[in-house]
Amino acid sequence: MKFNGIDFDTYLKNYPDEKGYFGKYGGSYISPELQKAMDEITEAYFTICKSSKFISELRRIRKEFQGRPTPISHLERLSTSLGNVQLYVKREDLNHTGAHKLNHCMGEALLAKYMGKKKVIAETGAGQHGVAIATAAAYFGLECDVYMGSVDIKKQAPNVARMKILGANVIEVTHGLATLKEAADAAFDAYAREYKDAIYCIGSVVGPHPFPMMVRDFQSIVGIEAREQFIEMTGELPDAVVACVGGGSNSMGMFSGFLNYPVDIYGVEPLGRGTALGDHAASLKYGSEGIMHGFNSIMLKDENGDPAPVYSVASGLDYPSSGPEHAFLHDLGRVKYDVISDDETIDAFFTLSRLEGIIPAIESSHAVAYGIKLAKTMGKGSVLICLSGRGDKDMDYIIEKYGIR
Ligand SMILES: *Cc1c(COP(=O)(O)O)cnc(C)c1O
Repeated sequence: MKFNGIDFDTYLKNYPDEKGYFGKYGGSYISPELQKAMDEITEAYFTICKSSKFISELRRIRKEFQGRPTPISHLERLSTSLGNVQLYVKREDLNHTGAHKLNHCMGEALLAKYMGKKKVIAETGAGQHGVAIATAAAYFGLECDVYMGSVDIKKQAPNVARMKILGANVIEVTHGLATLKEAADAAFDAYAREYKDAIYCIGSVVGPHPFPMMVRDFQSIVGIEAREQFIEMTGELPDAVVACVGGGSNSMGMFSGFLNYPVDIYGVEPLGRGTALGDHAASLKYGSEGIMHGFNSIMLKDENGDPAPVYSVASGLDYPSSGPEHAFLHDLGRVKYDVISDDETIDAFFTLSRLEGIIPAIESSHAVAYGIKLAKTMGKGSVLICLSGRGDKDMDYIIEKYGIR
């Protein structure tokens, strides 16, 4: 399928280019020392990860350890309550550890093993990526250093406990605002020192090349499964596909399975409390081109051009940029990006729980809310939503802030 001059039959092979660019976005803006380490990972990715041995081992792990394929569920009661549009969810909440993040962490850690590395290094904000990478490290018997701001360590006690139980070292970062940005800087510094024995494992389709490509490719299992399952269930493609966008990994995984098909694709960003800078994290909707964390993309900037403070009720979505491939697909118009507020998100959280017996992560509730909105405007047809994770991690917060509805 051709769209705006791009041939999507060959898109996944042609993008990014060999320097890691999706159009003008992506690339690698890092120190020469770190660039050496990235080149090593890129080289290993193309030789090791494309080998049949690696592919068949990852397939076995996905089946026997992660519990893949995850199913698609038809949301029968919710659909009926809205009218004639049929809503479906791809159940990444049923992936081991309760979210999609393990899809790329198992791939990255398996690559580490093949490269003979002894340790994985990562940063984490809300702790979801930390738990996924700690899980993968335990599985493969790798050491695991997770850098985390002291503010986040206090807020995310259950995830800190999980990482420690899984055998990871949680390394406290105390400088600056002591949150995700400082943790990411500290993790990069550690990696520059230790890259001979360690590999850096990023948490989304962000960072310097090859990470946006590699994480997309490891997450593409979501879209491949979803397309086949949906056709098997209904005999046709969905009319629309929806996923939430933080850094953009669950959405890129899902979208990659549908880019080359006549399906409308929607990425949902968090509008938080409103449109003022600092009240949301909708970088593609309200941001502009810029470089941060080693890559060029669309980002939210403050008056100095630095990454702006962001906010969302979903801690997994409050990132001031999105992966470069999203910026590319945004400009191209192949994916439409729109926003959902905190309030709409919380309504969808309770609606899905009550009508379908599925408690979604607050991140995923953004996609559910958008799917519901879309269904109301469509009149007929079908919408497939990526349910990126389960809401168990959000229970305490929801009860404290919103009570039981
Ligand atoms: C981390 C997380 C997200 C956001 O990350 P993406 O890279 O944008 O997918 C979304 N949903 C859940 C459940 C998460 O844990």
